[in-house]
Amino acid sequence: MAQHFLLSAEARTLSLKCIYKGGEAKAYESFKRIRWSATGGNPVCPKCGCQEHYEIATRRKFKCAACGAQYSVTSGTIFASRKMAFVDLLAAIAIFVNAAKGISALQLSRDLNVQYKTAFVLSHKLREAIAAEVHTGEILDGEVEVDGVYFGGHIRPANVADKRVDRRLAKHQTGTRRVVVAFRERLGRTLPFVTKSEAEGVDLAKVWVDRLAIMSADEASHWDALHAGWQTERVNHSQAYSDHGKHTNWVESFFSRLRRMVRGQHHFVSPKYLYQYANHAAWLEDNRRRDNGTNARAVIAAAMDAPISRNWAGYWQR
Ligand SMILES: [Zn+2]
Repeated sequence: MAQHFLLSAEARTLSLKCIYKGGEAKAYESFKRIRWSATGGNPVCPKCGCQEHYEIATRRKFKCAACGAQYSVTSGTIFASRKMAFVDLLAAIAIFVNAAKGISALQLSRDLNVQYKTAFVLSHKLREAIAAEVHTGEILDGEVEVDGVYFGGHIRPANVADKRVDRRLAKHQTGTRRVVVAFRERLGRTLPFVTKSEAEGVDLAKVWVDRLAIMSADEASHWDALHAGWQTERVNHSQAYSDHGKHTNWVESFFSRLRRMVRGQHHFVSPKYLYQYANHAAWLEDNRRRDNGTNARAVIAAAMDAPISRNWAGYWQR
């Protein structure tokens, strides 16, 4: 039997060992090379685009020869005002891409010996950056599967049976339950959304799925509406998970990763951040067969392309 790709040496092109052996200077060069890949790592002024510059080497800054602006390799990116060393940032990204089910901020803070707050904001910034690779604005086509899964809003039953309430009733619910509705092309991209009900997936399909696509959904009645817009295949999961080639296995794989991420790493997710975890799981799913060095470079490139985060810049200073 052929060896699984993830078990092969080709899947391991980056390690913490080599990151820390290379040290701060080499990590800094990696960020420069990725940020300014078009000029072979030569700094480009983010204000005017000029390549002529003076180096303020002691502070790892540049001064533009044309407009006089001072900038660094992370200016104007999601890593702006970073305080972590580049080598730790690179290590954080390596750990982040190696974690197939995501990684909790607490675990990352222990691995890197940084404060919990630092690890929390950094992981959310990385998720925000890679979300741009998940939500590219392109619509899905070919064979597209759709499904929805509920997250959050768990009500712990009271210890004593007499005091337990009917947890199905709206008046006992916490209002924090959300659905992740995901579309997934077979052999292609995954596109998740957070909604209040699974039925909202039909309207999302109208925006994000090509009308010539063949859709697959389970037997839930709100998906009946899909037949009006698309050729739609249905599978009744109470009878079979795969019925003569009709299945939603691709999108289910995404959900099993997301469930394991939420349950096994984060234990609890607030409805406010659920979309971040859904995007993270989609990115991991879509890039699961890439070596870890390529994935780390993709995260850095996405972070360098991502503007200063409105959600996370100075999060703890507010
Ligand atoms: Zn300039």
